[in-house]
Amino acid sequence: MHDVIVVGAGPAGSQAAASLAQRGYAVLVLEEHPQIGVPTTCSGLIGAEAFDRFDLPRASVIRGFDSATFFSPKGSSATVGAGRVMAYVVRRCEFDQTMGQRACAFGADYRLRVRCVGLEYGSDHVKVAVVQRGPEGDETPMTLRARAVVLATGARYGLFPSLGVERPSTFLQAAQAEVGMEGVDRVEVYLGREVAPGSFAWAIPAGPLVRVGVCNGAGAIHFLRRFLEHPSIAFRIRQPAGQIKRKAIPISNVSRSFLDRILLVGDAAGQVKVTTGGGISYGILCGDVAATTLDRAFCLGDLSERSLGEYERRWRQEIGVELRVGSFFRRVGGMLSDEQIDRLIRAYHDTDLPELVKRWADFERHRKFILALCRSNVFFQLVWSCFRRRSHS
Ligand SMILES: Cc1cc2nc3c(=O)[nH]c(=O)nc-3n(C[C@H](O)[C@H](O)[C@H](O)COP(=O)(O)OP(=O)(O)OC[C@H]3O[C@@H](n4cnc5c(N)ncnc54)[C@H](O)[C@@H]3O)c2cc1C
Repeated sequence: MHDVIVVGAGPAGSQAAASLAQRGYAVLVLEEHPQIGVPTTCSGLIGAEAFDRFDLPRASVIRGFDSATFFSPKGSSATVGAGRVMAYVVRRCEFDQTMGQRACAFGADYRLRVRCVGLEYGSDHVKVAVVQRGPEGDETPMTLRARAVVLATGARYGLFPSLGVERPSTFLQAAQAEVGMEGVDRVEVYLGREVAPGSFAWAIPAGPLVRVGVCNGAGAIHFLRRFLEHPSIAFRIRQPAGQIKRKAIPISNVSRSFLDRILLVGDAAGQVKVTTGGGISYGILCGDVAATTLDRAFCLGDLSERSLGEYERRWRQEIGVELRVGSFFRRVGGMLSDEQIDRLIRAYHDTDLPELVKRWADFERHRKFILALCRSNVFFQLVWSCFRRRSHS
């Protein structure tokens, strides 16, 4: 019998495991793949604050960024920076592995090639049905037991129906490839209907290669192929794109992230920045909150749904407003026409926006900046003209 079984060795699962193991609990992490962090489909940008707050391992950091350049659909650009390092780009596979090593150093046990296929309640524990995959592909079913379970399976919801939990309702599709490119010195963000309707595309320098991707409502691979031929991208490509990888990103959260003895964390719970689809930092934060809640529940000897409801209250206290404001901003941003985006980017340096960025920009928490932006003249005029355009058409 383990105290806690964590299903999934992504950042959210490994943070929960590290935090629980550090408190002395017997923790087992199950990962279905033979290696932690493989395969990954991610740009690996993580807000600087998370490294300090959670003392995250830094070995996988490639470099930091203090600015990003935004490109309008008509080719205008504005470099936006707050004068401080806002985010780091990591080798994502190595990041996940070092998160796992840190949890192991605190005493957590990891079992690879073990897929959780079902959860069932016992009298005072959860039965975790797993399939262990051998090196020859042979599969051995077995049942493990734990007093509590943390589900950190990422955007994979196969275990949800049997638990009576509904998966998040809204997803983005993201597609990304690594490309040899010249002249990409900072994060580049591309906006506009042709590139990524209602969303954005990116080029992120990450060591010798550049991560080029698109996130979108649907058809991300189609949009990425087109983006790779974009005039601002194509002429700088020196080495063609490697394999295009695609993955879903939840941008709404589950209605309930706790059950008797079971907590959902990370992408599994939809704990993702609605504005950008970034989920590493929120997953780590919520993994940590899950560990603190379980610690308290173990001390009280009460792992019931009522006791674990504290988890949801606490993570919503941390990021609930961020998610709501982000959702509002995504809707408003999606209403802007290509002309309005172009006007905004062209006018950027003549407005009070650079000052707002310096004062309020935060890579992971966008609420304060969005609220300041909403109060600014330039934004008010934009939204007003959106409504006028809509009511005329
Ligand atoms: C193209 C793209 C770019 C992105 N870029 C960024 C970015 O720059 N910054 C950012 O913050 N976020 C980014 N994201 C989102 C980010 O990758 C996720 O939010 C993050 O990985 C979520 O972490 P997690 O621990 O919840 O889940 P995951 O990292 O998905 O980990 C879940 C783990 O659980 C394992 N697993 C699943 N089911 C089972 C099972 N039944 N049994 C055993 N193991 C199981 C999986 O194999 C996996 O290892 C990006 C996503 C995409 C698609």
